[in-house]
Amino acid sequence: MTIDILEYNRIFEDMILGLEAVKNWKKQEVLNVLRPMFRALHVAKFKWVFFPNEQTEAEHMGRETDLYEEGVPELTRPYVTKEYNTGGSRVVYYFYADSSKPEWDADDLEKLHMVEKLIFTYHGRLRLVNLVEERTYTDYQLNTRNLRYILKLAAQLVFRKEIYDYCMVCFNLKGFSLVNSRIGRDAGTKVMSRFICQLVNKLEEPGSIGRMGGDNFVGVFKKEDLDKVRTHLSGTGIVYNDETNERVMISAVAGYYIPRECDEIQSEDDLMDRVIMAVNVARHVQDTMEVFYSVELQQKQTEQKRIERQFPDALLKNEFKVYYQPKVDLRDYSLAGAEALCRWVKDGVVLPPAAFIPVLEQSMNICLLDFYMLDHVCTDLRRWLDQGREPVRVSVNLSRRHLGDMDLVEHIIEIIDRNRIPHGLIEIELTETTTEVEFADLKRVVNALQEKGICTSVDDFGTGYSSLNLIKEISWNVLKLDKAFLPVMAQSAFSNDNIMLRHVIAMATDLGLECIIEGVETKDHVDLLQENMCYMAQGYYFDRPLPVLDFEKRLDKQKDIYCEGGKREE
Ligand code: C2E
Ligand code: MG
Ligand code: MG
Repeated sequence: MTIDILEYNRIFEDMILGLEAVKNWKKQEVLNVLRPMFRALHVAKFKWVFFPNEQTEAEHMGRETDLYEEGVPELTRPYVTKEYNTGGSRVVYYFYADSSKPEWDADDLEKLHMVEKLIFTYHGRLRLVNLVEERTYTDYQLNTRNLRYILKLAAQLVFRKEIYDYCMVCFNLKGFSLVNSRIGRDAGTKVMSRFICQLVNKLEEPGSIGRMGGDNFVGVFKKEDLDKVRTHLSGTGIVYNDETNERVMISAVAGYYIPRECDEIQSEDDLMDRVIMAVNVARHVQDTMEVFYSVELQQKQTEQKRIERQFPDALLKNEFKVYYQPKVDLRDYSLAGAEALCRWVKDGVVLPPAAFIPVLEQSMNICLLDFYMLDHVCTDLRRWLDQGREPVRVSVNLSRRHLGDMDLVEHIIEIIDRNRIPHGLIEIELTETTTEVEFADLKRVVNALQEKGICTSVDDFGTGYSSLNLIKEISWNVLKLDKAFLPVMAQSAFSNDNIMLRHVIAMATDLGLECIIEGVETKDHVDLLQENMCYMAQGYYFDRPLPVLDFEKRLDKQKDIYCEGGKREE
């Protein structure tokens, strides 16, 4: 065959470049690359047969792929070559000459052989690349994408500046260990996989979800799909038993980031930082099902980090101060006790607990602060006793974070005894719990404290779940009703609020619990309490939380401070 060598070289180079560029071994794509060469070499038909092993070859049980046919092929005498893969599989290639063209000479066959070698090599290379990619970007346990895949996708979208059309999500499945223990680990894995696959199927390409590990996932998807994602994550029933169709409800706590054109996004890391921050706030700070990233959220987090950083030093420097808020007996308006409330005096500014307690509660730092507070209260009580003053019982708040601490009670007693404080002068305030484990811990702690003669109170009763079990099962001394029970404006005696208040007070009294209400701000409140026979009150009507020197003044004239009009003139 006479073929111009320059022309042939050009076609050959184009073919190599084309094969290099093939990303997907699809018929049309490969055909486009090979067609010029086949035409130049007068190939009228080309196919290959793949045999997985020697036996299938012997039995002629191969998988045939017809790639190309053009013109009239000479079917009786194909040029046949064979290639072996490691692992025993083999491929047989068939080139059929164009019957209307001169026969192939030795030079032509050499060229065809070269073409076959290239097809074999590039096809194999692509399979290998695909295999490696598949392994790199797949979570084999769930048969879903993984974190690396989402990072790659996000990086591409950032690079192409298309990220502003997309959202990021990061989520943690809610209570999945409970699901596992209910239906078993294997069914749990199936449910997890289905939950994710169903979500991915709802997304427009290339949106996807990848597993980060455990029950944590991250995803990137088109903004139009946001509602679908939120609905799916807020709770979706997933079948775990295909025979009975039994389902389990799966939901997730999620953080979202919706990039805005004005946001600076340099890499996929920026996206990850923001979405992870959002999910952490949802899980550990706000305890909500979803949080959206915003600059304000970011600033708040930065502020929280600052508090955490400054805390150890502030503790050492005694920057935390005990303020005492009096509790008043409404029968004779005498000082009946006090609650120790923490203030952080930083650079001359007095910070309220709301500015730092929620942050400290995210770590065990709150426990250090609570012990510090108890120690300082005990120091004050010791001083008052030594000075011959008549101290009242002081309640100290204890975060729920302590409940898992098996040595908690010993620690409390050690502090009280080290300061030689009669146990009757200390009361420990604890808030309601939400989980069964915490409930058991709470019961253990309250019982142990009472054995040591230390009073315990349920703080903020009425704000949380207000489980009656909590007061039935645990033998508290004091029920502290939250100010939510008090009406903002005067209400009829038969309003729901008043009926609730009356019955809760009656129940506490009948159960032998001391009942105190906090947030008493007005004379109407006092009247209401007296009508309902609740005789202990704490609130701004009498006093705000006081610095220690001011409180000492109250201590010194316990009897004659308060009157029906609140406080007597100082
Ligand atoms: P809490 O234990 O329920 O304390 C009562 C809160 O109600 C105090 O807020 C008090 O100042 C406020 N309060 C008292 N009377 C009135 C009133 O008439 N009207 C209104 N609107 N509010 C009143 P504070 O001091 O800001 O403390 C907030 C919360 O911070 C406390 O709620 C407690 O949960 C926590 N906290 C304070 N100190 C400590 C501490 O040392 N350790 C722990 N773990 N938590 C603390
Ligand atoms: Mg309290
Ligand atoms: Mg309270």
